[in-house]
Amino acid sequence: MISQNTIDRIFDAAQIVDVVSDYVDLKRRGGNYVGRCPFHEEKTPSFMVSPTKNIYKCFGCGKGGNAVNFVMEYEHLSYVEALRHLARKFHIEIEETGRETPQQQEQRSNRESMLVLMAHAQKLFASLLMEHQDGRAIGLAYFKERGLREDTIRKFGLGYCLPRRDAFTRQMLQDGFKQEMLVATGMTIEGEHGPYDRFWGRVMFPVYDTRGQVVAFGGRVLTTDKTKKVAKYVNSPESEIYHKSDHLYGIYQARQAIGKEDKCYLVEGYLDVLSMAQSGIENVVASSGTSLTTEQIKLISRFTSNVTVLYDGDAAGIKASLRGIDMILEAGLHVRIVLLPDGEDPDSYAQSHSTAELKAFLAAEEVDFITFKTRLLLSEAQDDPIQRGKLISDIIRSISVIPDAVMRSVYIQECCRTLQVEERMMVAEVDKRRVQAAEQQFQQQRRRVELGREHGVPSSEGEGTPERESMETAVRIQHAPDELDIAEREIIRLMMMYGSRQIKPEPDGPDCTVAEYILGEMEADDLYFERPLYRRIAEEIGERNGRGETTGEQFFVRHREPEVVELAASFFAGKYTLSKIFDTHANSGSTKVSVRKEENHLNEVVPMQLMAYKATKVSELLRQEMEKIREAQSAIPVDENQLAALLSRYDALSALKKQLAETLGERVFR
Ligand code: ZN
Repeated sequence: MISQNTIDRIFDAAQIVDVVSDYVDLKRRGGNYVGRCPFHEEKTPSFMVSPTKNIYKCFGCGKGGNAVNFVMEYEHLSYVEALRHLARKFHIEIEETGRETPQQQEQRSNRESMLVLMAHAQKLFASLLMEHQDGRAIGLAYFKERGLREDTIRKFGLGYCLPRRDAFTRQMLQDGFKQEMLVATGMTIEGEHGPYDRFWGRVMFPVYDTRGQVVAFGGRVLTTDKTKKVAKYVNSPESEIYHKSDHLYGIYQARQAIGKEDKCYLVEGYLDVLSMAQSGIENVVASSGTSLTTEQIKLISRFTSNVTVLYDGDAAGIKASLRGIDMILEAGLHVRIVLLPDGEDPDSYAQSHSTAELKAFLAAEEVDFITFKTRLLLSEAQDDPIQRGKLISDIIRSISVIPDAVMRSVYIQECCRTLQVEERMMVAEVDKRRVQAAEQQFQQQRRRVELGREHGVPSSEGEGTPERESMETAVRIQHAPDELDIAEREIIRLMMMYGSRQIKPEPDGPDCTVAEYILGEMEADDLYFERPLYRRIAEEIGERNGRGETTGEQFFVRHREPEVVELAASFFAGKYTLSKIFDTHANSGSTKVSVRKEENHLNEVVPMQLMAYKATKVSELLRQEMEKIREAQSAIPVDENQLAALLSRYDALSALKKQLAETLGERVFR
């Protein structure tokens, strides 16, 4: 919805060095800057920023991209959020395109009004807590009694709602907010005797989203009047800006620390978060009473893949929540458990121990989830064989949802030792469960596709959707980079780096651009890239070429798809740019020579690379043909015609491979 014009202006203004140096201490080195990578732990800097190309690239962990990608990665924002963030930083007014429907526009302005209202409410509650007589005497006194310091109270934006039925609503109306918005956010309830405050007489805990916007409140009652039945905690209802299952209490304050420590502590209540954060364990969030949802797990996984759940020592409660943890395992996260001593919760433990004691305790008591569960259930089952059987199948279920094969086998070994079960049997059972689950998933998927067809949704509908993306990722993980992938990557590299450069591939032939040549050759031989990302890039280059437009470095550096930008960064900042660093350090490394060579010899380099790619492709085709031939040979009865056709195709491909190899050899030794 942000106009292309605005996006261009943001990219023009957001100089990569300015953006990165807000977060990373950069030192000049030659034409570039280097620093310690903010995305992985390192002692010697391998994080490079190129002001001329406007990209960053880490040679340690491989992350790379443009200014928008950097902000997305560091602040954990979406593409549009990152653009807005940079627009704010560089004072660029955002021009929206008129592609929103009136309904969408209304929804957006509704959401925005609600967020403004919530931000105002938070400030009001906070000032009442700190400045109003009742706020100080009742609210602040309560927080102090719970051991919270003022800096913690301010950091988490805590507040107080006066104990008068409609004081808040009246104040907000006076400040210019509409009653319908107060009701829409759930701050005000329309009662028989007029509107009244949902949270009157409560201390207030604002719930922030990852961007620091208040989306909801939790309020705790302080009156001890037992004759009235009043809920201890009241929370904002679901609204257009608040879906309970999407949020975690404390995520905004914890997000930086979670990334840095590469771990997230999960507790239950607001006060657990506040006390632990105050003790210096800042990477802590709460699911606030609800059982953990998949959305919340996804939210955590944006920051880290390590979750440590803190439990109070109540066996029944622990057993009830074990199921939820299988969900975390399923998301591919590593789960550890810390069991607190009897009668303690994270809040009380953090309050009664020093920071050093708390840290030491957490480090010493942490056990991985599967081991924890095994021990817990084992202590209950004792020697009862039926209970033991149940326990084993329970553990097998937990292990079978873990996506990573290495982790699964580690857990299997560990459990077999604890439970004294034969490893072979456990492996077989886990595999069986996984096959069952995959089968089930497949059936569900097929059902969805069929449903889609029934409703006239064409099968290409899924293109570019997150679901499709994740399928691409899954496929990619299964096939580790092989020769063909490497060959494809080289071709796409040439197209991205030199696509618009003129070459003369045949000594007596006409001039054409690198992209035209490669695309033309591939089309003639009916070749296409296996990897969807490369295919998309090639198509885009082809389209632009067809319109007579060029695709320079900045076209890819500013590309909408982070995957494209990351690839561009690795090409443009790879050894090719590093060689410039060597340049200034009077190093006559061979890299420098080879870069110059490639650039100046595109007439030879491009056709040769293309031939090498074709040769690899033919090898792959030969492998596939061989499989088909084996299959055809073992069929009963053998289809002689089909077999003959396959064999002749195989021979043709073999001849082609030989020819390519010979030409390639001639080229190399020419
Ligand atoms: Zn790195």
